[in-house]
Amino acid sequence: YFVNNEIIDSNFKINDSETFKHIVKVLRHQIGDVIYLVDPTKNLFTAKIAQIDLDNKELSVEVDKLDIPSTEMPVSAIVACSLSKKDKVEWITQKSTELGASKIIFFASKYSIMHWKNNVVEKKLARLQEIAKNAAQQSKRRIIPEVIYLNKLSDLLKYQVSANLVAYEESAKVGEISLLAQTLQKKPESVLCAFGPEGGFAPDEIEMLNQNGFLSVGLGPRIMRAETAPTYFLSVLSYKYEL
Ligand code: SAM
Repeated sequence: YFVNNEIIDSNFKINDSETFKHIVKVLRHQIGDVIYLVDPTKNLFTAKIAQIDLDNKELSVEVDKLDIPSTEMPVSAIVACSLSKKDKVEWITQKSTELGASKIIFFASKYSIMHWKNNVVEKKLARLQEIAKNAAQQSKRRIIPEVIYLNKLSDLLKYQVSANLVAYEESAKVGEISLLAQTLQKKPESVLCAFGPEGGFAPDEIEMLNQNGFLSVGLGPRIMRAETAPTYFLSVLSYKYEL
């Protein structure tokens, strides 16, 4: 669980009502059970439940700091996906968080089947951020990836990292030397990959991205659905740098 408290001492109290509800009502933890806490500076603690105060919705826990390796990817990985239907956007957020993304960006592009009107963006992002938080907790992440919405593809150009990529099926011809493999040969500090909608990117969108430092890469000879491509990409990064 992510807690906002700067200091977690040996006899700590958890009194955030959502966290309390999740621990006691959803997971039905009891006295003596051990849970994990992460403080704002990403320190990890074990917390043994000592007391459950149902009236005040407060848990007393006995805390121990843990010195175990981080679960974060050694490369900061940002996925930027064209907007799709609600369930797909939620699925991408959950799976990308489980797979280690540091940031999840959604953007509207030419062939996107959805656009978010300005007045719904805040509410939709809050929902996705909550999904990312729950997924980060279940995956024992040390950070919750930030979820961002851009209402035009060109806003993505502001995000320049060590390796900017765009997944393009036309670059995925069998037998050609993989530009993805070449790019990942030397571990970049951070990598951002953009993924198109079901209808793909328009040729002029690819051209605009290429002209602004985004390298077109193939993700193998099979064309994946829009929501599968980012999960494939994150899995490749994990295999390459973590296994
Ligand atoms: N319009 C394309 C078609 O029908 O041939 C398919 C688009 S695909 C469903 C959606 C997005 O996933 C693409 O824009 C691309 O970013 C990514 N993608 C899927 N498979 C890919 C592959 N094998 N190589 C590179 N990108 C891929």
